Amino acid sequence: VSGACAPVGPGARRQTRQVTLRWAQNAVRVGGDAPVMVQSMTNTDTADAVATAIQVKELALAGSEAVRITVNTPEAAREVPAIREQLDRMGIAVPLIGDFHYNGHKLLTQFPECAQALSKYRINPGNMGGGKKREDNFAQMIEVACRHGKPVRIGVNWGSLDQDLMARMMDENNQRAQPWPAQAVMREALVVSAISNARRAEALGLPGDAIVLSCKVSHVQDLIAVYRNLSARCDYPLHLGLTEAGMGSKGIVASTAALSVLLQEGIGDTIRISLTPEPGGARTREVVVGQEILQTMGLRAFTPMVVACPGCGRTSSTFFQELADSIQTYLREQMPIWRGQYPGVESMNVAVMGCVVNGPGESRHADIGISLPGTGELPTAPVYVDGERVVTLKGERIAEEFVDIVQNYVKRRYGA
Ligand code: SF4
Repeated sequence: VSGACAPVGPGARRQTRQVTLRWAQNAVRVGGDAPVMVQSMTNTDTADAVATAIQVKELALAGSEAVRITVNTPEAAREVPAIREQLDRMGIAVPLIGDFHYNGHKLLTQFPECAQALSKYRINPGNMGGGKKREDNFAQMIEVACRHGKPVRIGVNWGSLDQDLMARMMDENNQRAQPWPAQAVMREALVVSAISNARRAEALGLPGDAIVLSCKVSHVQDLIAVYRNLSARCDYPLHLGLTEAGMGSKGIVASTAALSVLLQEGIGDTIRISLTPEPGGARTREVVVGQEILQTMGLRAFTPMVVACPGCGRTSSTFFQELADSIQTYLREQMPIWRGQYPGVESMNVAVMGCVVNGPGESRHADIGISLPGTGELPTAPVYVDGERVVTLKGERIAEEFVDIVQNYVKRRYGA
């Protein structure tokens, strides 16, 4: 029956305002019709301008489309313009976002060059003191944002929720005939905090298209519930991410599970995967994971996808794993060069398969594929290009020869 197995695909993007992050002559857009953006955050001491600029560069080259830096001390605020200058000198075109807690109102006021060098401010309304002080500090930061023409992200966080608001909402909840569970009140408080602070920022003069919202929590089901609610109640662009997603596979799985559900529903305009780096692990891992989530969901394409089978008893040698790994690494390393030279190459599909059971079929479906014969046979590997078997590679140099074929294919298909 025609259409019975039509893919569902990601739902229509929720309509939002569009926010623009500017620096020098550059601009990056979030929300509206802009593609879902991948961003990340440094973990260097921002007062060390060289180390921070180097890490921002690494993250940007890995594909981070905006990078947030901690601005927590006068020493850090003083160095922000130098970081921007170093990036400009290196030709790294990525906007910097300042992450402020507790003293952001003072730092942005005392260091106007810092306020100007940043492309956006992240404000946490839960970390600004209480009562009148919180109101004043928030107003001061919004006033700086208005003066410098900068957008802000009002980033509410489960771990630092406005305690005045929470206490008030718990009191109101106790008046209900059937009080909500405490967890539900907390979820509601996150959403109310984000939206009410956004409305207040607008009342203070910040344009509605200069506000991004986030409500970060550390549990998947809470995140999904909170963002569905937030999305239904406002049209500000939304920054998605689990806070403290965790280490290794746990952090990746939790982030993927939560974000996939929301992205499938068209919710989310920029994402950050908050992975705890493993000792010695690369900070750029979170950028790669963010890209892979969006590409796997069919929302964006960043680098050619490698379809590789898991291997089984038919692939007892390590040759198959090494081949798949070397092809994946090669494609990822080529992308910074290919991106400018071969438009569309990021959508290419490459298959690396272990034996004849599924190998020829998957290889024919890919743009270019290689299928090993399986256990106990000589290393011979048919190569398929655009669905046709074109050559059979043999011997020790199969990987190198396959890379040559991929290179020629890319030039021929995606070259000008
Ligand atoms: Fe095993 Fe062959 Fe399937 Fe790969 S394609 S998992 S080697 S049966």
